[in-house]
Amino acid sequence: MTTTIIGYPRIGSHRELKFAVQKYFKNKISARELAQTAAELRKQNWDTISGAGIDQLVSNDFSYYDTTLDTANLLNIVPKRYKELNLSPLDEYFAQARGYQGDKGDVTALSMKKWFNTNYHYLVPEFEDDTAIKLVGSKIFDEYQEAKDQGYQTRPVILGPYSLLRLSAFEGQKQATDYTAALVNAYEAIFEKLADLGADWIQLDEPQLVKDQSEADLELFTDLYKPLLSNKHGLKILLQTYFGDVRDSYDLLTSLDFDGLGLDFHEGDETLNLIQSKGFPADKLLFAGIINGKNIWKANYDQKLDILHKLPKDNVVLSTSCSLLHVPYTLENEPDLDEKYKKYLSFAKEKLTELTDLDHVLAGSGDAALKANEALFAKPRYEENQAIIDKVASLKDSDFHRQPSFEERAAIQKKEFNLPELPTTTIGSFPQTREVRRNRAKYKRGEITKEQYDQFNRDKIKECVEFQEKIGLDVLVHGEYERNDMVEYFGEKLDGFLFTSNAWVQSYGTRCVKPPVIWGDVNRNAPITVAESVYAQSLTDKPMKGMLTGPVTILNWSFPREDISKKESTLQIALAIQAEALDLEKNGIKIIQIDEPALREKLPLRKSDWYTRYLDWAIPAFRLVGSKVQPTTQIHTHMCYSEFGDIIDAIDAMDADVISFEASRADLTLLDTLQKSHFKTHVGPGVYDIHSPRIPSENEVAGTIHKILKKVPLQNVWINPDCGLKTRGTTETTASLENVVAATKQVRKEL
Ligand code: GLN
Ligand code: ZN
Repeated sequence: MTTTIIGYPRIGSHRELKFAVQKYFKNKISARELAQTAAELRKQNWDTISGAGIDQLVSNDFSYYDTTLDTANLLNIVPKRYKELNLSPLDEYFAQARGYQGDKGDVTALSMKKWFNTNYHYLVPEFEDDTAIKLVGSKIFDEYQEAKDQGYQTRPVILGPYSLLRLSAFEGQKQATDYTAALVNAYEAIFEKLADLGADWIQLDEPQLVKDQSEADLELFTDLYKPLLSNKHGLKILLQTYFGDVRDSYDLLTSLDFDGLGLDFHEGDETLNLIQSKGFPADKLLFAGIINGKNIWKANYDQKLDILHKLPKDNVVLSTSCSLLHVPYTLENEPDLDEKYKKYLSFAKEKLTELTDLDHVLAGSGDAALKANEALFAKPRYEENQAIIDKVASLKDSDFHRQPSFEERAAIQKKEFNLPELPTTTIGSFPQTREVRRNRAKYKRGEITKEQYDQFNRDKIKECVEFQEKIGLDVLVHGEYERNDMVEYFGEKLDGFLFTSNAWVQSYGTRCVKPPVIWGDVNRNAPITVAESVYAQSLTDKPMKGMLTGPVTILNWSFPREDISKKESTLQIALAIQAEALDLEKNGIKIIQIDEPALREKLPLRKSDWYTRYLDWAIPAFRLVGSKVQPTTQIHTHMCYSEFGDIIDAIDAMDADVISFEASRADLTLLDTLQKSHFKTHVGPGVYDIHSPRIPSENEVAGTIHKILKKVPLQNVWINPDCGLKTRGTTETTASLENVVAATKQVRKEL
């Protein structure tokens, strides 16, 4: 069989591209030097992939920032406000990616959105009524030719016109359907030019097809592809999907004149069933996404072969379930990770070998590889924690419900805390200044002792508490100075997590994350946050919020296990965090915040699956954490998105006593949702945007509070910034919080 992949990571195995792009932003290297780094990284990828024995390589999966933005720019979909800056094409591109502020003007960036159900984010192309779609760029051709010059025949990849339209924003009167003809022409021009250059295949990515598709959606798809497929210019067309199955469009896709269909056998629950029940056309190639492109576990070859044996014999290409963009480069960069772990893991480079192994096994020459893989999976991967497994199994319905009811608790807590109206607080972290980070780095390098490290943080906590008392906040925090990252910090102190040194995954543009691996059963055998919270509480008579990361967020920002369900893994984490919450309570902490910023992130792509496959266990998992505390203990939570309209009831069902939200950026549209849904949970819709260094004035904040009070009953409202302050500087933080407190006092007087 033939082997191929959908795409490869591009940020560099040591994040070379990230650093080069950042240097370019700071004018430390030229565009030429940046281009050179990029070309080296592309060459390394092609050499690696070809060296691993993969038959069909791809090109144009590289990007300086984001491939959706690349596609838009290739087709002249660039809003006027960027064109008017008259920058070089590269700078115009970066202006769209991250905004531009300089002598040529001042514009904000395009908005950024989550890429389907991944932690990657793409830039949202904007169509204006006079956007003239035409082929103006050359990136896809240049990169094809560049590979060819190195002796590699590649299959150029590009986002397909249908997903492009569905992922874009339409700023004027026109809608997606108004651009069909122009897009067909532009894509056809791409086909023609690639064919001229000598390409034999092109890959059009259409991940949008795995979402729920209406008839109008399929009609638009047909209107784009019917004409396109009648003018292929001799090129073979691979229609590539990923992140799910194509149950709504399978009949359509198999009836159209595609030369290959790329289907996901990992997340596509229905993929195999569709092929078996409906058949697969003999005149097309099936690009079978068999190796999981999203997670870091080594594949179980027998399970994969089981699927492969059920597929048609002659027309299958072995591929990954999605682009390998979503996994780190290679285990070769993890010298500190013990072989006993590594042998179960597989990053991008190792996944290439899995593909060729399977290919060899199918060809009858892969016996050794198969035997080794079977031997690996014959033994248990880790030692189970039976006590935890039993504990999860014996959870009862009542464990997920806090008593007494929300209303009764609210009355009890009102007496308990006796807070003023519009109580003020913050989300938890205070600025992680250079000194804070330096202290941690020194400790990690062994340059200071644990005592010295802790003492520094205690001093910071003291300073932070004094500041909050001075400006008059009502509910205080300790500042989270001891935390590098809200998931890693907890993972490091719980059994069951693994950490890597270089396993970076691109989150957007130049930003990467290094998620931990949930390796085994999660267990808490020692307090995690108690010492810091108790110390902070000892410094003040005001209530000190304990600060925990919620189980759903810990799971969603890690590489999850696949041998047990996400639900079960999350419940294990929830029990660990529950134990921590009870320990905080026992030690005198009366308000506990359980952050769930990532709760929305893993909503299934099909709306019909939202509850049954996710919220029905994720919301109870959150509730489990706080279900056993006293009625006098107040549970807070925090979420980072402003788009909640569609799951607002699920959020209320988290049954927290107080929730803080990001709200200011979405112009407080959240407030209407809160009003309409009769949201019961007391709520702090962020009164200013912490993502920008801008300081809101006292009057501005007072105005925002008045807006909130128009929609949410006074007794339900809390006043706070819209997220943690760790990424901010001290100066703007001090001034902003002072204004928030002053504004709140001003409004209280007017009540
Ligand atoms: N408590 C965390 C903080 O303030 C919450 C962070 C978040 O929402 N991402 O940093
Ligand atoms: Zn937040």
